[in-house]
Amino acid sequence: MKPKRDGFAIGGAVVAPATRKTLELPVASLYSHAPMTLPVQVICGKVDGPRLFVSAAVHGDEINGVEIIRRLLRLPLLKKLRGTLLAIPIVNVYGFVNRSRYLPDRRDLNRSFPGSVRGSMAARLADLFLREIVDRSDYGIDLHTGAIHRENLPQLRANLDDAETARIATVFRVPVLLNSDLRDGSLREIAAERGIPMLLYEAGEALRFDEHAIRAGVKGIIAVMRELKMLPASSRQSRQPEPLVARSTSWVRAERSGILRATAALGTRVRKGETVGVIADPFGEQESEVLAGNHGIVIGRTNLPLVNEGEALFHLARFESTRVAEDVVEAFQADELPLGPILDEEPPIV
Ligand SMILES: [Zn+2]
Repeated sequence: MKPKRDGFAIGGAVVAPATRKTLELPVASLYSHAPMTLPVQVICGKVDGPRLFVSAAVHGDEINGVEIIRRLLRLPLLKKLRGTLLAIPIVNVYGFVNRSRYLPDRRDLNRSFPGSVRGSMAARLADLFLREIVDRSDYGIDLHTGAIHRENLPQLRANLDDAETARIATVFRVPVLLNSDLRDGSLREIAAERGIPMLLYEAGEALRFDEHAIRAGVKGIIAVMRELKMLPASSRQSRQPEPLVARSTSWVRAERSGILRATAALGTRVRKGETVGVIADPFGEQESEVLAGNHGIVIGRTNLPLVNEGEALFHLARFESTRVAEDVVEAFQADELPLGPILDEEPPIV
């Protein structure tokens, strides 16, 4: 006999066990008089279990995660959910409408936590998200991409010194884990303060869809939910190798302004002193090579060839063994990442 459970209370409503409900949490109105709401879908499992939030577009132009959540919510597997899944595909609703990372008050939502009821838009949205989502959850996964014109290799940023966070980070199975410091005012910092293990997934580029990054995100979330016993264990073993924790990361910057021809692709291994691009003036008379300052794997890069001096061009991650890291990244990139019969019917986004 399965234990009975109470419904899940959120935003003044109660979602009954074994049901799914989409709620519109009111945030401050627009000056046009139009109300703005934060849409949340709650799936309340039949049986009690962990409460997990999955959020995207905290930065309004980072849209891979919106598609990841759409695919996640279509999974028939969720009928077997144990616990509660809170899906928030668009957190920064203002930025999403404006195709912007920020809010209309020019604030970065991910630097605005814990926020306040009486603050400007970013502070109010942060406060609402904290009260209604984070404080009702046991775990969190927040989905991001690189900034505009910047692309990231699928990677997780998490506080790996916390054993529970490290456990769920490892099963997510992206090739690179970054044990990054908590930044002031970030969602991750506030979740950590409240003892909620949280992963930040970074993959792809702002305002673009990346099929591989989307599939890796969906698979990673399912794997975490299986690890937390929110979903039944898979009969198939993961073919992905264990992810590697980067020891440190560094940026290769432009030494001069000009037009960049990048020669180091995302996920490739570079050696210290190796040429990773050439910057030229428009006449091609003055050319200078861009050299890697360290060994490492390219985990992020600019896709825009127009660069100003000092700008970050390539993000390099250093590992215990760069050769092993290269193998792990190659295995990941070569994998088709099947999602199972239902979702594989969907044509891939190219
Ligand atoms: Zn972001």
